[in-house]
Amino acid sequence: FIMGYRNESTAAASDSASQAPPPVEKFEYQAEVSRLLDLIVNSLYSNKEVFLRALISNASDALDKLRYLSVTDPELSKDAADLDIRIYADKENGVITLTDSGIGMTRQELVDCLGTIAQSGTAKFLKALKDNKDAGGDNNLIGQFGVGFYSAFLVADRVTVSTKSPKSDKQYVWESEADSRSYTIKEETDPQLIIPRGTRITLHLKRDEKGFADPERIQKLEKGYTKEVEVDDDPAESRK
Ligand code: ADP
Repeated sequence: FIMGYRNESTAAASDSASQAPPPVEKFEYQAEVSRLLDLIVNSLYSNKEVFLRALISNASDALDKLRYLSVTDPELSKDAADLDIRIYADKENGVITLTDSGIGMTRQELVDCLGTIAQSGTAKFLKALKDNKDAGGDNNLIGQFGVGFYSAFLVADRVTVSTKSPKSDKQYVWESEADSRSYTIKEETDPQLIIPRGTRITLHLKRDEKGFADPERIQKLEKGYTKEVEVDDDPAESRK
């Protein structure tokens, strides 16, 4: 039995070595991002629904970028004709998934865009925060300037971004937790989650915010942001 057991484990070990999952790399956030996340997580800001507008706006920008670049490079949009944004609200599990078939991000773009403060709005926010140290000031500032992508952490304690750029032949997964000073990036290996192009953002909602995972509530909130959104309640749909 012991021999058999040993043989089995050796076989298993060499098997897993040949199909070793790609490594998960850990990155520290730029100090300003950590500061921003601390603020977002501890904020008493009550209009938490702003996360939806920020994510839809990013998705819409991603579609615009693809449209724009496709004019000179039609190859870019060859893999998926439809340019759309879809939102899935999974009530049971308290998960919201937002997909767009836009420009996506390369591995380097994930690091540059979701690990540092690149956008001017957030930079202004941090500057205003510095200039405005009065108690509670930050809560108004979140509404005034917006904190873009990071506002996902107003409602989610874990955020996963799986993304495929036409510039890269690989799809990457960025993941972070609200109270973490770091994020990870790995290659997407789940065949069911592979997309031809674009970005899928999964929000694992905080216990107190699970009420957002409601198609009717999402539909009400997103009305007016953009015409491109489709809202669904079937999480299986989000696997397409
Ligand atoms: P902003 O949108 O104001 O630039 P964000 O913090 O919301 O700032 O996003 C930072 C950057 O991350 C964006 O500028 C964009 O390059 C990238 N990004 C965010 N969401 C997406 C997405 N859905 N598709 C492609 N790129 C995205």
